[in-house]
Amino acid sequence: MTEQIPLQKKVLSENDRLAAEIRGRLDAHKVLALNLVSSPGSGKTSLLERTLAELGSKLNIAVVAGDVQTENDANRISRAGGTVVKPIITNGKCHLDARMVLDVLGDIDFAATNLLVIENVGNLVCPSSYDLGEDMKVVLISTTEGDDKPLKYPGMFRRSSAMVVNKIDLLGLSDFELARVKENALQINGTLIIHELSCRTGQGLDRWYAWLSDMMAAKKSGKLVQHVDSR
Ligand code: MG
Ligand code: ZN
Repeated sequence: MTEQIPLQKKVLSENDRLAAEIRGRLDAHKVLALNLVSSPGSGKTSLLERTLAELGSKLNIAVVAGDVQTENDANRISRAGGTVVKPIITNGKCHLDARMVLDVLGDIDFAATNLLVIENVGNLVCPSSYDLGEDMKVVLISTTEGDDKPLKYPGMFRRSSAMVVNKIDLLGLSDFELARVKENALQINGTLIIHELSCRTGQGLDRWYAWLSDMMAAKKSGKLVQHVDSR
């Protein structure tokens, strides 16, 4: 165990260097970048499909979609509309790192892009340690999961700027309680912006779109407050 610590530190400092390179490119063009994280099945791809269907024709949105295997999600996102979608297959790796993202950003025209969304691999553990050059992490949790997840995976909720509670149309069908997940999440990170929505019914999506627009405007005007808690 003791020998692994210096190696992991070295890997992370190399990652931070590459993440800074990505952030520099995005900042030069004032492109807002989100890193979408969650367990598998919380609805990252569904949220992207809905968002692209609604905003894709008005805004230029680029998507990087990571998965352990298959380009299924990237294909779903491409069908949702008018966007550059770059798939990354990690071949077994359980997170994206800045090198993987940098490798696919090459042919995206950032001068003509307003928003970059990176769909991370479904995993609430190590993606929290890898900066991908994003402005903020957005963590999803769905009502079919345990409402104690913020307490079980505090690192991810601490390093996220917003939490999306998805599948609220299914509330009442399990023991998941909305008030409890919010209380747990805010206990870990009192500054979390919380969205409650259903990608299936569309409930709550208007507020999500409005928030995205606000964040994009803040980035354009240089007033975006970046989340810097890296504990
Ligand atoms: Mg997905
Ligand atoms: Zn991993």
